[in-house]
Amino acid sequence: MNMEDKQEFTPSSQQCEQSFYSILGCDQDATFDELKHNYQILVKKHHPDKQTQEGIDFISDDKFVMIDKAFKTLKDEKARKEYDASLLHGSFDNSSLIYAEIEKKDLNFVMGVFYFTCRCGDNIEITEDIIEEGECIVECSECTNCILIK
Ligand SMILES: [Zn+2]
Repeated sequence: MNMEDKQEFTPSSQQCEQSFYSILGCDQDATFDELKHNYQILVKKHHPDKQTQEGIDFISDDKFVMIDKAFKTLKDEKARKEYDASLLHGSFDNSSLIYAEIEKKDLNFVMGVFYFTCRCGDNIEITEDIIEEGECIVECSECTNCILIK
């Protein structure tokens, strides 16, 4: 890494890719003890004081801040719940909750409206103008499932 890279290095773009859980190397259902255990190992490994080689300080410093932030959020039950909720919201955007991929011809068509029966038993209503737009994602109003219509 040269000096120019150092100055332009912005951690923010990477921060939003990584969840606090992945920073701590834990699953989302990890217990407090697991989080704490991993946190302590990571802190030892990445603590700025432990790094003396030139060039590594900068990255380690940033990494340490993220590890610290992750643990401080997840160790607090209330903050963790809020964080989990925000993760859930985020995962909706990248479509990881998609339960089924449906072709238009597989939808039930009744009285000008398309329907798909969700696994929760509810009928997801899909209007024709949504389908006209091509590939689209529709969320069930009863549960959090999404279907992708092609
Ligand atoms: Zn549903």
